[in-house]
Amino acid sequence: MPDTMKAVVKTKPKLGAELQRKPIPTYPPDWVLVKVRATSICGTDVHIYKWDDWSDKRIGAKNLPQTLGHEVAGDVVEVGAHCKRIKVDDYISAETHIYNPGDLNAMLGQLHIGDHMQILGVDCDGAFAEYFAVPESVCWVNDKSIPPEIATIQEPLGNATYTVLGEDSDVAGKTMVIIGDGPIALFAVGVARVCGLAKIFIIGKYDFNMNIAKKLGADHLLYANKDDVNRIQYIRDHTGGSGADIVLEMAGSQQALDEGFQVLRKGGRFSAFGVSADPKPAIDYNNGIVFKGAQIHGISGRRMFDTWYRNRNLLASGRLDISPVITHMFKLEDYKAGFDEMMTRPRHSAKCVLFPSSEEFEAAKKRRGVK
Ligand code: ZN
Repeated sequence: MPDTMKAVVKTKPKLGAELQRKPIPTYPPDWVLVKVRATSICGTDVHIYKWDDWSDKRIGAKNLPQTLGHEVAGDVVEVGAHCKRIKVDDYISAETHIYNPGDLNAMLGQLHIGDHMQILGVDCDGAFAEYFAVPESVCWVNDKSIPPEIATIQEPLGNATYTVLGEDSDVAGKTMVIIGDGPIALFAVGVARVCGLAKIFIIGKYDFNMNIAKKLGADHLLYANKDDVNRIQYIRDHTGGSGADIVLEMAGSQQALDEGFQVLRKGGRFSAFGVSADPKPAIDYNNGIVFKGAQIHGISGRRMFDTWYRNRNLLASGRLDISPVITHMFKLEDYKAGFDEMMTRPRHSAKCVLFPSSEEFEAAKKRRGVK
């Protein structure tokens, strides 16, 4: 074991991050130490990288320096003295919501929304490094057939799975509108397809991402930024006049909220995942929710560990193929190129994966047939 490692560290409360050499993390006896094989850039990392208002309030300059990153796959190299379940050499990913078992929500089975929950890479050092430490309680053992570049994106995939399935998984044969075309909306298309939705509409903005949505199984592509088609009428016309059974709001804009409630059928489910930049966006409460008999489902994180279990099965079986969402891969030291891709508009990237080791990077390129 070396004494130091490469890590991408947020050092200052302004745009950017630094590649540093840091000591290998120390950790409590119920945590494990993991050698990172792949790690991926999330929208949350982009917020922190830019250091926007959310980062300033949520993390705060006084808590820097801190290693970025939370989406990860790697091999366990050490386990703390109190660990029982996870063993050295286990190939794991981390559920990033580090729950507190004493929280009421955790005791009621909602591990992902406890009051004292911490988030990897937000409340503690993350995984954009050669090694990271994480509690045994949130380690998820991967199927060895799932390659690291896919295993690392299971965390956001879990958001998509939870949003698609809702609390009752009553989706087969139904119609769904997905609003947004970021990576999680794209994953949602793939999950919806394998879970038996009869008709999938996506409302997005960028051709690059809409083409990926089509590959993953979207039936109808509608553009939020073009007015050539009346989107509300189009969806009603293609759902027998009633509107969609399920709407996934994954854009967080006022337009998405307005249109989402309008295209939802009476008695349908509206799943709210997109975070609005406006702290109190307007909602047509009477007509959109009350008289419509709508079910509203807020999503923060993913059901633990139900979504992990289903995704592992779907990925290992080959039934769910989300590989088109990975559009870029870089060595960890080239993180800046990854963040640049993620911040460019119009979008020409979906998911960027980083590899601390050159061998893993080369192996992934070979698997994906890229030079
Ligand atoms: Zn994430």
